[in-house]
Parts: sequence; C-alpha cells; structure tokens
Amino acid sequence: MEDRIFLSSPHLSDEGYEMEYIKEAFDTNWIAPLGKNVDEFEKEFAVKVGSKSAAALSSGTAAIHLALKAAGVEKNDIVFCQSLTFSATANPIIYQNAIPVFIDSDYTTWNMCPNALEEAFEKYPEVKAVIVVHLYGLSADMDQIMEICRKHNVVVIEDAAESLGTYYKGQHTGTFGDYGIFSFNGNKIITTSGGGMLVSKNEERIAKARFWATQSRDQARHYQHSELGFNYRMSNIVAGIGRGQLKILDERVAKKKYIFDFYQRGLGNLEDVEFMPKNELDEPNYWLSSMTVMGKVRPSDIFSALEAENIESRPVWKPMHLQPYFEKYTFVGEGVSEKLFENGVCLPSDTKMTDTDLKRVVETIKELWNK
Ligand SMILES: *Cc1c(COP(=O)(O)O)cnc(C)c1O
Repeated sequence: MEDRIFLSSPHLSDEGYEMEYIKEAFDTNWIAPLGKNVDEFEKEFAVKVGSKSAAALSSGTAAIHLALKAAGVEKNDIVFCQSLTFSATANPIIYQNAIPVFIDSDYTTWNMCPNALEEAFEKYPEVKAVIVVHLYGLSADMDQIMEICRKHNVVVIEDAAESLGTYYKGQHTGTFGDYGIFSFNGNKIITTSGGGMLVSKNEERIAKARFWATQSRDQARHYQHSELGFNYRMSNIVAGIGRGQLKILDERVAKKKYIFDFYQRGLGNLEDVEFMPKNELDEPNYWLSSMTVMGKVRPSDIFSALEAENIESRPVWKPMHLQPYFEKYTFVGEGVSEKLFENGVCLPSDTKMTDTDLKRVVETIKELWNK
C-alpha cells in the first residue's frame, strides 16, 4: 500500500521557526500561559491580517463564543448563522442560550446568500448578530452582506477559520465585520496544534475578551470576580508555534493554489465536474480544493475509489439545518447548501503533497469516468 495522502495535515516550517520560539520560552522558563509569545503572536497576527487588535485563544470555537458575548448576544436572542459550515460555527450560539436561524448559501460563493439574508431580516428584524463563514477559503460576498447588515444595524461576526490568507478586494477576510475569528486547529492552513484568534478594530472589546478568557479576574490582589469567566487563553508554547507558522503562511497559500490549479487542469474537463467558484473580487487561500459532481459518477464513488488507494477525501460540510441537533431551528433559503452537500467533494489538499501524489489522486478519479 502506498503512503497515505491526507486531506490537510499539520506542516511545520522547513526552517524550524516554531522550535526557535518554543525554545526561547523554555530557556526563559516561561511555558506558563501568557508571556512574550502570546503578546507577540497577537501583534504579528493583527499586522498580518490588517486588524487593529487580536486576542489569542484556546480555539476558534472559543473565539466565536467570545465574539458573540462581546456582541451582547444573550439568552433568547436571535443569531443568523450560515447553514453550510462546520458545527463549531453554530455551537457557541447555543452556549449563549441564543437561537440560531440558519441561512442558505448561493452557488456563486458557496457562502451566505445575500437574498436569503434579506429574507431572514424581514422575518426576524430583532436579530442580534450575523455569523458569516468563508468556507474552504472562499470569501463570502462581503460587499452585499455588510451593506445589508449595516442597513439593519446588526453586529457581523466573520468565521474566517478556514480563510486565513484569503483576500476580498485586497483586504483580508475576517476584517470586514465587527469581529473576525481564526482557527489554528491541526487541519487548518497554519496550525498551532490547536488554538484560535479573535480580531477586531475595537481594541476595548478585544481587551474585554482577554479579560473573560482569563476567568474574568478583577483588578484586585485577592481573587475577585464580578463577571462570569472562561479559561480560553492560548498558552505561551502554543503561541510560539503560531509565530513560526505565521512566517510561512504565504508559502502555504501558494502551495494550496498550486494544488487547486493542478486539480483543475487534471479534472476540470470531466463531464459534470465543476470546481468551487472564484469571482474576480476573491483571492482565496484554497484551503481545501473542492468540486461538485452532478452526473452519473457520485461523490460516494469518488470517496470509495480514493480510500481504496489510501487517499483521504471528504464530503462538503453537512448543513446545520440538516443536523439532528439543530434541525428544530428555522432555515431560510432554497436548498442550495443541501445541493452542495449532496454533490460536493473535498479533495486532498495537503501542502506536503508532491506532483506524484497529485497525479495519483487525479488518475484515480479520472478512471471513474472511463468505466
Ligand atoms: C475549524 C473551524 C472552526 C473551529 O475552530 P477550532 O479551532 O477547531 O475550534 C470554526 N469554524 C469553521 C468553519 C471551521 O472550519
């Protein structure tokens, strides 16, 4: 059996940047939570994405949770949430005892459909916040979404967990809304083994998020708490990995694009295959190369054929409104997210893949069309 090809696995820098920062933390005996790596990672990250301030946290999920809290989302508040996403986008709405209303995607972005969003505002004008996702590194239609949300004066949270390195009209995704969140989970474009970042133009809100994330300890010598706290901070070791990974983000984006272009050349002409959309405003990070197949070869045929060759692949995210846990909540849209789920294939997009690996994937899939 040939070596396994992964969907997207951790890829440390060839230069060993991560270890330098970790070593520094060890040498100064400062592996405790917080410390220089955390402070510097926040600053370097904010500069990289062009945001005013950033809070390094234990996960992307924690960042969404604190963004909702910072947005003032409380019990029984309504939050609009893109349906086509990973459950981590929606779970924190429930942590806050708020009520999600799931919004459909469109075919031009695979992300939140502005028309469905407008329709949701008509039904629920009292909505407190909107969570828009930039799936697979494709930017949502931020011009339209921001215009609609500003008109209704509602807080916008961008889930950019999959889109670090993606630009929309030359600006980093995650910096259009009031809050942006990023993830450094093991499968993301850069990783710290696990972690997240909350960014905002509003420095005061970010300072507040850091306060909540460190158990809401008041300024007092004794342990005093006037607010509910969370243990959501990133550790100084983890932040060291993040500083190292940030240095090679552009390299990783370039490789992801190379992978996408390779697949598009190899598979783009097959009957009924369409690659994920890219409009002229969007400069994706191509986190996962994805496509839809609408003909007689089904996604399940592709998953099975690849698995038989020891190659990992996945369906597109199953929409939240189809999830047993979330199906009781309202969905607004026309079922585009369902179609993308039924017909979608995420191809292996591991940045350690060689051309030989890529050819192995392409040939395995092409064979299904020759049967
Ligand atoms: C990975 C991911 C998250 C959660 O990030 P964690 O760091 O794993 O908590 C949230 N949203 C989306 C869309 C993701 O892909």
